[in-house]
Amino acid sequence: LPNHAQLVEFGQKHVTKGLGRQVEAVITKGKGSYVELGDGRELLDFTSGIGVTNLGHCHPRVSAAAAEQCMNLVHGQCSIGFTKPYLELIEKLLPMMPHPSLDSFYFWNSGSEAVEGAIKMARTFTGRQNIICMQGGYHGRTFGAMAVTKSKTVYSAGFNPLMPGVFSIPFPYWHQLSRPKDTPTEELSAYCLNQLSLLLSQQTTPKDTAAIIIESVVGEGGYVPIPTEFMKGLRDTCDQHGIMLIIDEVQSGFGRTGKNFAIEYSGVKPDIMTIAKGLANGFPLSGIVSRKELTDKLTPGSMGGTYAGSAVSCAAGVEVANVFKEEKILDNVNARSVELLAALNTLASKPEVKGAILDVRGRGLMVAVEFASPKGTGPYDPFVNRSVPEKLASRVAKRCLEKGLLILTTSVYEVIRFIPPLNITKEDLAKGCKIFAEAVEEIVR
Ligand code: PMP
Repeated sequence: LPNHAQLVEFGQKHVTKGLGRQVEAVITKGKGSYVELGDGRELLDFTSGIGVTNLGHCHPRVSAAAAEQCMNLVHGQCSIGFTKPYLELIEKLLPMMPHPSLDSFYFWNSGSEAVEGAIKMARTFTGRQNIICMQGGYHGRTFGAMAVTKSKTVYSAGFNPLMPGVFSIPFPYWHQLSRPKDTPTEELSAYCLNQLSLLLSQQTTPKDTAAIIIESVVGEGGYVPIPTEFMKGLRDTCDQHGIMLIIDEVQSGFGRTGKNFAIEYSGVKPDIMTIAKGLANGFPLSGIVSRKELTDKLTPGSMGGTYAGSAVSCAAGVEVANVFKEEKILDNVNARSVELLAALNTLASKPEVKGAILDVRGRGLMVAVEFASPKGTGPYDPFVNRSVPEKLASRVAKRCLEKGLLILTTSVYEVIRFIPPLNITKEDLAKGCKIFAEAVEEIVR
């Protein structure tokens, strides 16, 4: 058998260069909050496979449910008939929905596909074409999802032309709006809502506008929770003009922020909601949820997909929902969140860190540390701190990796995101925070 180094070399030669990688290694095993690499290293995983393995890697009950389903029916095919786990999953999800009106489900494989489906539905529901998205939003890599993704050019550079009829507005994020960090969110929101109103009178008339799409917490674009007044403003605008509000909960859903769905913080009702990631703890599964009264407008056969709503993934999803409730996952998220935010705020206030940390923000276990930008990162950036070293976030992430902690950055800002498993223990969380603090101090020094 080839050794680990040979396997890595093989992968580097034959796996497309279009994929980026955090570690040049083979991941051989995942257990709870840890992953093992083929070279013998064990890493504490604060990425959860990008917000997916919310119940930890290979949760025994979820894996067992999938294995059992494998022995009964692997592939049912949603355009041929129902499968039992598909229906059971809907039954589990109905009471979790942020609004009782969300009662019509359609499962797919990935978050991107859910976004594609949401866009197609919004166009059918309204008979209109244009979509408004957020500057900084991320919704995926397929063509429709890519067109509404505005977090970083790497996702679309060289792949143009994109889907037409897409417009974007800024969302309330002090850094992106070049405002001081303590600017009241009401002020930021009012500015952005005014941009929306201008957009609707200058560029895309409401009669041509099918939907506004937004993440409840802007993820790849910097881990910024959307303020309530902005969400409410979007809802009002949508109500006024018959525009669909699509809430993307792909990353922020299923307890990640301390509530079932992050949109609950604002109390706003989505017309269409996209879900994925934590839904099946690693089995490929996504969903589009809307109101039956709207989805009844769809033509039978207009939606579908060979693997959409796989019986095995749905069986895993059913068990995820059971574990989520029985193991009181939300309680753990909220308890660990307090500890995580406290640890990061303590670090940010240390004199050794010398103002390198601009901000600590987030909800539940979807938390970010934003570093000061090094000079030369943009045409104008009031948050440049010339005394901090370049590319702080990625250097800190790399140092964490050397120390046994797997952690991710986000988009164009100097942000590190904390998305550990939602059932992480107090001890493992503290261990990760300690490694992170040491890495920051070593890099900033
Ligand atoms: N929407 C959001 C908010 C996401 O975070 C992601 C993935 N990071 C997607 C959509 C796309 O999901 P997928 O990668 O499963 O296609």
